[in-house]
Amino acid sequence: MDEFELIRRYFSRDAGKRGDVVAGIGDDAALVEVPRGQQLAVTTDTMLEGVHFPADAPAHAVGYRALATNLSDLAAMGAEPAWATLALALPSADKAWFEDFSAGLFELADEFHVALIGGDITRGPLAVTVAAYGFAPPGRALRRAGARAGDCIFVTGLLGAGAAGLSAYPSMTGRGRRYLYPRPRVAEGLALRGRANAAIDISDGLLADLGHVCAASGVGATLRTDAMPMATSDVDSALNGGDDYELCFTIDSTRVDELKREWKADLAALTPIGAIESEAGVRCLDAEGREWRSAKPGYRHFKA
Ligand code: ADP
Ligand code: MG
Repeated sequence: MDEFELIRRYFSRDAGKRGDVVAGIGDDAALVEVPRGQQLAVTTDTMLEGVHFPADAPAHAVGYRALATNLSDLAAMGAEPAWATLALALPSADKAWFEDFSAGLFELADEFHVALIGGDITRGPLAVTVAAYGFAPPGRALRRAGARAGDCIFVTGLLGAGAAGLSAYPSMTGRGRRYLYPRPRVAEGLALRGRANAAIDISDGLLADLGHVCAASGVGATLRTDAMPMATSDVDSALNGGDDYELCFTIDSTRVDELKREWKADLAALTPIGAIESEAGVRCLDAEGREWRSAKPGYRHFKA
């Protein structure tokens, strides 16, 4: 099969699905209509075999995960997902691989009404780059820079599930599945519009990612390790384990009751984990109020 046949068979299945796609796969570029009164949120992520997923990971999970990490970024912006593009490099045109990969990708795309509108295929070491596009009304997107001293800090779901799942790999059930199939918190991000002062998705570990929020906002934070909603008993993987794809956000302390009251039961659970302070840096206290120190820092591709 050449790449045109591959594209036709495995990726061209969104024609007419969304009214805002004027021209999807098949032309030199896609043409789309951004709804009037909305801003376009754009994000992209590359996943490399051996770096972002194990070399023998099932193609279905690779396809799902490549889109999931991008939708998680849109969720953290409070943006509503709309479209995606896919640039693939892979060593050979293996039919079964394409079958599974596209099934995994479209499983998530269909759930969130995302249309695949274009991409690229080249031969090379396995690399999957997805870009995702979504909408937010002007001024309503969630930014990293809005945290203020006195804000309460919350996270969705459980922390440390990604790290636990990776160590359980290649088990595909329970924890292993949670690592390979992260749930992007899209509905939660939309529910935080107009409520959260700042937000980020947890891809590199809570401490590292909250550190980005604090740096962007010119503030600091104190966390309570005994307050963490943990997937396992390992505090270190809850605070520093990557790949959780939960949302961490800050909100005015005066608005917390309203948030809890109005938070719908089908959304991921919310847990308050600490407070924003004017002093820079992220501090952790244990149940006795002693400073907690981690053994491992967040993941970085390039170390200083
Ligand atoms: P060009 O040479 O003009 O860049 P391509 O042959 O790369 O065109 O792609 C043909 C069409 O198929 C384009 O619309 C492109 O967006 C789409 N496409 C290519 N690869 C993929 C892919 N992996 N997934 C989805 N669409 C793709
Ligand atoms: Mg091309």
